[in-house]
Amino acid sequence: MLRKSDLDALKADIETSETIAVVSHMNPDGDNLGSLLAAGLSLEKAGKSILFVKADIIPEDYRFLPGIEKLEAVDDEIQMIDLLMVLDSSDPDRLGENKILLDKSKKVVNIDHHISNTEYGDINIVMPELSSTGEILFALLLQMEMPINIDIASLIYIAMSTDTGRFTYQGVNGRTHETVAKLYDYGIDAYGLNTKLYQRRSLKRTKLFIEAISKMELYNDNRIGLVKITGKMLDETGTSMDDTEGIVEFIRDTDSVEAACLLKEIDENVVKISLRTKNSVDANKVCSSFNGGGHSRASGATVEDTIDNVEKRLIEEINKYL
Ligand code: 5GP
Ligand code: MN
Repeated sequence: MLRKSDLDALKADIETSETIAVVSHMNPDGDNLGSLLAAGLSLEKAGKSILFVKADIIPEDYRFLPGIEKLEAVDDEIQMIDLLMVLDSSDPDRLGENKILLDKSKKVVNIDHHISNTEYGDINIVMPELSSTGEILFALLLQMEMPINIDIASLIYIAMSTDTGRFTYQGVNGRTHETVAKLYDYGIDAYGLNTKLYQRRSLKRTKLFIEAISKMELYNDNRIGLVKITGKMLDETGTSMDDTEGIVEFIRDTDSVEAACLLKEIDENVVKISLRTKNSVDANKVCSSFNGGGHSRASGATVEDTIDNVEKRLIEEINKYL
């Protein structure tokens, strides 16, 4: 439930703020970009001057999103901001270098659905029971009677679809679908959006996928599936780390697999973990032990160690739950 006190406080802050910034997180995904752009476009339509700030490169997959061209890197000499809206970011570290914006803002609004959220805002609207930050934002826009048009509704749909595995994950319920039904009332072209989101994989990405899956390792009676993506694999297929999207979900879809792991070698001593689980392993707990977090079924972390060491440590940690 949205708290009336939060809604009133947010409404008052929006009314009195001259400069409002919306900021994305590192490795931005569909929920982060969709909810951030939807918030920014709606506030802009309401007559506000909005700064759209990116924390990282925008993956190719999401460059078709309405309003994406508005996102800019932060200006080092940025003046004090009245209101900063952070969406889908469980803790300040998710903002990377843009963490400084938290100190350069008079007020911070933290809108999120991660169970691991550290409530770092002045206003914290954190609802882990909802499918996506996009769904929370839509409820907020409706309650505050903010402008919503086809672009904003499409962005919310993108946020919800990408964060629920196309509406298949555990948190999806009747309410999720009721929200989607409301989005159709704004004229969204769901088929067109789905085609753009899910049917545009490049051939080189398919080749990386084949290479990655062919190297899948299995542990603990085939209950853990793990793939390591190295710089060499990317070079050989002419791909980048963004092109690994979807691999970890494919591993999880194997019948015997309870925990699916993707280890991305960002640097010789820096590894990004992506973890997806089915029933017996709490992904958030596992990733929290590596200073990361997320949800019980999907979490991540960035670890300073070699990829082979991270593999050993991660398997040990997951084994505690199996
Ligand atoms: P992914 O594996 O797709 O990068 O992330 C899965 C989920 O875990 C997302 O909800 C994401 O926000 C969260 N997540 C990924 N990496 C990190 C991290 O380094 N720290 C925290 N706290 N959450 C993360
Ligand atoms: Mn999300």
